[in-house]
Amino acid sequence: MSRYAVFGNPIAHSKSPLIHRSFAEQLKDSLSYEARLAPVDDFAAGWAEFVAEGGQGANVTMPFKEQAFRLVDVLSPRARRAGAVNTLMLGKTGQLYGDTTDGVGLTRDLERLEAPLTGARILILGAGGAVRGVLEPLLAKQPAALVIANRTAAKASALVEDFADLAGQGCLLSGGSYAAIEGQFDLVINGTSASLGGELPPLPDSLFSPQALAYDMMYAAEPTVFMRWASERGARVEDGLGMLVEQAAESYFLWRHKRPETGPVADMLRRMLAEG
Ligand code: NDP
Repeated sequence: MSRYAVFGNPIAHSKSPLIHRSFAEQLKDSLSYEARLAPVDDFAAGWAEFVAEGGQGANVTMPFKEQAFRLVDVLSPRARRAGAVNTLMLGKTGQLYGDTTDGVGLTRDLERLEAPLTGARILILGAGGAVRGVLEPLLAKQPAALVIANRTAAKASALVEDFADLAGQGCLLSGGSYAAIEGQFDLVINGTSASLGGELPPLPDSLFSPQALAYDMMYAAEPTVFMRWASERGARVEDGLGMLVEQAAESYFLWRHKRPETGPVADMLRRMLAEG
């Protein structure tokens, strides 16, 4: 039986085993998928142990996305851009391939939600690993403007510099502090980890255009503080549960060349979250 796993530290809370086992069941595919803890500073050792046991591929979550990036033999172009790897695959000759599916996971979920993308004004909050990972697929949708705002403004400016070549002629890509945010946006994506601590970045009240979507990459049983704030200002709101399931589906496709249906799995997770 083919063996897969998710690596993290901590990892006990991970929904990935449930998601991938549900995909396998749906597709009548024979595989095992487990959660594995690796030492914080030695992901390579954890991976080598798994390979010795017959492991063929893995997802990688916090704090290992950068260590995995450094470990692989062959990087996909999108993983190179993102500077992170969330999907590992062992090739037939023993080469290790690394890819990232977070970005495509977000854009698939945004498409499901019929979010304004092409020609839209998009604001992204945050400039960490998650935001770096989603910029390429978002820019590929050719928005009219993409603004990155971050607490540490220099990190937003650095991302603008790194991705300027992908912005193309029609897209105004810019970045800076929260205080510098100007105008209204059709889509506002919270890619900060502020929601984890129940915090909200300092945002102007008149942020949303009519019918705007506010999307928090974080998910929880209850709407996040960002979602509540956005909802009170008239925006449609969504959390990152769909992104989680879509990035998993893309990893599954890379390993198994089969595409699972994501809707039923997202619905099951949503029900489980609500039941606690
Ligand atoms: P990083 O640690 O790389 O970056 C954190 C970002 O959040 C930085 O931009 C940081 O700003 C900002 N930040 C942290 N605390 C605050 C605060 N109190 N106020 C304002 N800004 C703050 O984290 P990641 O990029 O890896 O993850 C970000 C979020 O995305 C997490 O909530 C994570 O759960 C979520 N995520 C969801 C996924 C999904 O599938 N749904 C996939 C990947 C991530 P500064 O630079 O100034 O420190």
